[in-house]
Amino acid sequence: MTQHHTILMTPGDGIGPEVMEEVRKIIAHLNQKNATNIDLIDRPIGGAGIDRDGVPVTPETIEIGKKADCVLLGAVGGAKWADIDYALRPEAGLLKIRKDMELFANLRPAIVFDALIESSTIKPDVIRGLDILIVRELTGGVYFGEPRGITPLPNGERQGLNTQIYTTSEIVRVAKVAFELAQKRNKRLCSCEKSNVMESGKLWREEVEKLGADYPDIALSHMYADNCAMQLLRNPRQFDVIVTDNLFGDILSDEAAMLTGSLGMLPSASLGARDASGHQNALYEPVHGSAPDIAGTGKANPLAAILSFAMALRFSLDYPQLADTLESAVRQVLNQKIRTADIMDRECELVSTSQMGDAVIKELAKV
Ligand code: NAD
Repeated sequence: MTQHHTILMTPGDGIGPEVMEEVRKIIAHLNQKNATNIDLIDRPIGGAGIDRDGVPVTPETIEIGKKADCVLLGAVGGAKWADIDYALRPEAGLLKIRKDMELFANLRPAIVFDALIESSTIKPDVIRGLDILIVRELTGGVYFGEPRGITPLPNGERQGLNTQIYTTSEIVRVAKVAFELAQKRNKRLCSCEKSNVMESGKLWREEVEKLGADYPDIALSHMYADNCAMQLLRNPRQFDVIVTDNLFGDILSDEAAMLTGSLGMLPSASLGARDASGHQNALYEPVHGSAPDIAGTGKANPLAAILSFAMALRFSLDYPQLADTLESAVRQVLNQKIRTADIMDRECELVSTSQMGDAVIKELAKV
């Protein structure tokens, strides 16, 4: 019998519900074929949450997310809620669910699809076949470190202060996630920091190196983060999995994403620790936002959301082959020159959000 799974679906605002509708159709298709047995629990988040519950995310929704196999999120935000207090804005709902679920590892794949190779600003020869995964520490480091603030100095100047701070446990838990992911991929892990000039980077390198002894099957290397920024442009295919801290990960994952060209194609995942029963909190979402400029027009590209669901199949539902099948269905659709407006090219067929979803299902149905 197919194993039963529960997923919390939070479509959110703008194009969020539109792209998640396509994921919903794919899940219904897979359920119908008995390839999966997934129950969806729907809850509003972001502006939709404010409209229904007065808050961007309720504690009940977060509890459902913790118990579910994973959360699939669309996107949040929009002009309608732009004047609300920061703490109650749609984006605060996203930050809260990530924080309360303790999602400390952010996974950002950068995959170049052959059919879209021309959309990148980088030479095709450099990025053809690119498939790298950046694991960014998400809940520590300089974005959260204390002390912080802007203070006046006796000499009349002002001082801005942030603190880069990492403990061994924070480093080890995110590095473990990265080692385990490398085991499921090409068994290479590159850890990036600035141990040449920062104590937190020195500790990072030492702890990752120590942990490496537990993963003899993984080829571990270390690189200074500034060199990594250069290497990503010079020869990105040298990387398999990269693990790095919150600040460097923020920058390097955006850089890697842009090697691939298009925002509408980029999936992501955020993972927590695995508990004794094997359960791991996880949230999957496209990298893009709610795109209010195209919401309601049928122009949104649903592939980032669909590829985020493929990540969920791989990492939370333990269906690696089904994840491969879904990704290859996306590849086939692109090879057939079927395109939403954001990735439109010469001699291609322009389709709407739902037609793109249908095209992926048509490919899935062939398997
Ligand atoms: P955005 O990602 O929503 O849009 C940037 C540009 O990319 C727009 O021109 C948009 O039309 C286009 N785009 C984005 N996704 C697309 C898709 N799937 N298909 C086709 N085109 C797509 O970023 P923004 O305009 O800076 O922000 C809009 C709102 O989204 C804001 O309220 C912001 O706070 C929010 N936001 C939310 C998230 C999130 O939910 N994770 C992330 C980023 C921004």
